[in-house]
Amino acid sequence: MTPKYKLPRGTFDILPDQSKKWQFIRDKFQQICERYAYFEIQTPIFEQADLFERSIGDTSDIIEKEMYKFKDKKGRIYALRPEGTAPVVRSVVANNLVQPQNPIKIHYMGPMFRYDRPQKGRYRQFHQYGIEFIGSDDPYIDAEVIALGDTFLKELGLKNYTLEINSIGCPDCSGDFEKALKEYYEPYKDSLCNDCQIRLDKNPKRLLDCKVQECKKISENVPSILDYLDDKCRIHYDSVKKYLKDLEIPFIINPRIVRGLDYYSQTAFEFVDTNLGAQSTLIGGGRYNGLMAQLGGKDYPGIGFAGGFERLLLSLEVEKISFGESPSPTAFFVFLGKKAKKEGIKLIQQLRRYGISCDFALQKESMKAQMKAADKCKAKFALILGDNELENNEIVVKDLALGSQQKIGLANIIDFFNKKKS
Ligand code: AMP
Repeated sequence: MTPKYKLPRGTFDILPDQSKKWQFIRDKFQQICERYAYFEIQTPIFEQADLFERSIGDTSDIIEKEMYKFKDKKGRIYALRPEGTAPVVRSVVANNLVQPQNPIKIHYMGPMFRYDRPQKGRYRQFHQYGIEFIGSDDPYIDAEVIALGDTFLKELGLKNYTLEINSIGCPDCSGDFEKALKEYYEPYKDSLCNDCQIRLDKNPKRLLDCKVQECKKISENVPSILDYLDDKCRIHYDSVKKYLKDLEIPFIINPRIVRGLDYYSQTAFEFVDTNLGAQSTLIGGGRYNGLMAQLGGKDYPGIGFAGGFERLLLSLEVEKISFGESPSPTAFFVFLGKKAKKEGIKLIQQLRRYGISCDFALQKESMKAQMKAADKCKAKFALILGDNELENNEIVVKDLALGSQQKIGLANIIDFFNKKKS
């Protein structure tokens, strides 16, 4: 059979046997967020394209090449969201969610869209989880945001990852750094990739982010932003590192983290999987002090991170962490004859309403086939109902793990499962 329709390139289905894993990660993230008192926000999947263009910066790869932009029937220009921070901040501004002395702590999850070159760990529709803390520039908050990410990865069972941190300064200190970068790269200009040649004029910090081998090599001895921080940014950075030590979160310093988007300032960090090859950044985050004002709100500082579900799944697989087993039904009904099936489906509905998970094999007739189906779905009990049992208002209950069986009255069946629960 040849399917009539193909998936769009860079997208995939999450099939039923995988969705339990996704659910497991979602639940774990939600639990950790609640433990740190972050609550969920949901924003639309598409927004005005301008929201991203203004906040992310028009020399970023996302804006230049990767955004799914379209006109609606009235000619309005929208974009499928390529990331979560700008929409969250837009909503925080529109709904007036931050007040003086009252920061907001939120988390989000959902699909993002980037017209990227698909490969393992990189898709056109991918799924992110993220948090944002808006309304404080206290360096403790930077450490807390990082701590939440670390707790999440740890509690999933991951061991082979490192936290890399940097400070990318603020507009006041990046002027001299950008000048130094320009001076450094100018002699190599002709050897840089086309994108980097443009970046050199427009936004030299982006050169540090380039994945092209030749550009990476040229960048090996590049000046460090850490030598250009002004006093305010240096003190902030030193405090973040101190808090991380207090919270017992190991980190390494990586002065080359710049983060691809324009709105970042000061703290920038990444959790990197040491096993994965090219696509190894599990979580990326940083401070974005000017973003809220840029989007029309009061000038409240913010910090957050985002991570990809797909890469997390890859890491969990590589580390052979077992998680998210599909649930099995408590009771699997085996019907012998039409009359038993007719009565049995009423019983099934009754048990399901009562909160007991049940299933049966609608299209299988023989006892052998139905018992096999019960084993296959790893049910705890097989409930066998035939004409004889019906006549006596009874049902045979077989414990599939122990192999033992007993007859119980149909009227006592809920009681039976209640006792098993307690
Ligand atoms: P970013 O928003 O680019 O900082 O990315 C944050 C995280 O989202 C990355 O560390 C990845 O885990 C994930 N991510 C970003 N882009 C993609 C993509 N195209 N496919 C899969 N995961 C992605």
